[in-house]
Amino acid sequence: MDKALYLTFDDGPNEPYTSQILDILKTFGARATFFVCGENIERHPQSLKNIYDAGHAIGNHSFSHNIKHVLLAGQILKDEIMRTNRHIKMYTGVDNHLYRSPWGLCMPWLKPWLKQNGFFTYHWNIMAFDWSQPPANFIADHIIKRAFPGAIVLLHDGHENIGTDRRQTVKALSAVLGELAGQGYSFHSLDNNIFHPHKIIKDFAADLYLSLKYYI
Ligand SMILES: [Zn+2]
Repeated sequence: MDKALYLTFDDGPNEPYTSQILDILKTFGARATFFVCGENIERHPQSLKNIYDAGHAIGNHSFSHNIKHVLLAGQILKDEIMRTNRHIKMYTGVDNHLYRSPWGLCMPWLKPWLKQNGFFTYHWNIMAFDWSQPPANFIADHIIKRAFPGAIVLLHDGHENIGTDRRQTVKALSAVLGELAGQGYSFHSLDNNIFHPHKIIKDFAADLYLSLKYYI
């Protein structure tokens, strides 16, 4: 896996885009990771099953993607994470230990709890602003120019706890896979057990920085 790339899709499942992404990944023999929201699992349970059946990894991205729950110390976010994990277990049988904070914003009070509960927290190395729906060629170029072996790429099949148009992301994905496969890259899922060189558990300042970058 010298030139491995780790594609991740956040905020789903969200149809028809999750299914379209699965089709494209299959065409290229690519594996990826889907950081799902519990509310969206309730909307699209079959999509979650399809992700799992296709051999991709599934991670927890909270239940409601609610900024207040992410920022305020308290039980609500912990309950959300556990509730989403129960949904993942119910539809796939998997005891999930992957977590990505909404907006990449993992507050200091949550980190010891994540560790105690055996969660691996993943941020990303490359993002392409696809949440704001730029043209597909912008998304694709942004990723292709910045790709490096071992990088984790942030993309979105949904939007927070509601659906949205992800046509540009879907279109960009084909271009990214086509170009980078030609450059010798292979595409893999994160999983609960691998040590990943870019698994980043950052301090709060770094989290905040990543989150601010997310909005710019
Ligand atoms: Zn998100």
